Amino acid sequence: MPTPPPQSADCIFCAIIRGDAPATFVHQDETIVAFMDIRPVQPGHLLVVPREHAELIQDLDDQSLESLWSVATSLNRALRASSLPVEAVSVYVADGAAAGQEVAHVHIHLIPRHSRDGFGFRFPPGYGKEPGRAELGAVADQIRPQILPPNGAETSGR
Ligand code: AMP
Ligand code: ZN
Repeated sequence: MPTPPPQSADCIFCAIIRGDAPATFVHQDETIVAFMDIRPVQPGHLLVVPREHAELIQDLDDQSLESLWSVATSLNRALRASSLPVEAVSVYVADGAAAGQEVAHVHIHLIPRHSRDGFGFRFPPGYGKEPGRAELGAVADQIRPQILPPNGAETSGR
């Protein structure tokens, strides 16, 4: 028997995955589930969720990580092929509370979009000014040394 993925007792998505809370599923496999968001931004708003409980993307195991994106892509295609009004799809992850994450179990939002749907990001004051190449470089210099190679591969970053 394969080991079941780690779960959290007080997590609503873990409760849905265990079958202890209701959900309207569109997909279930051994690694990933997807169900309708209970407060949809638009009809068809889906949540794609690994069975493994992890709060942040960086905490997921490699198989959950790969399958999550793969299932999200096939559901993105399904939304576009459906008869719902889908001109585009916002693919969105809030990776941490300060980014707006309310449910501390990794999930990808797939939100059907059309040009007059009224949904969008709110930008901070001053947004839109281009900082210049030197400043962009200084910020990039703080990131590059922290990059670990994914799955043992080499990275160069330049
Ligand atoms: P986030 O802010 O990225 O953590 O998004 C959490 C999402 O989960 C929100 O869009 C909620 O509407 C949705 N949500 C919360 N509880 C449930 C539930 N029981 N079933 C379906 N969706 C839920
Ligand atoms: Zn959970």
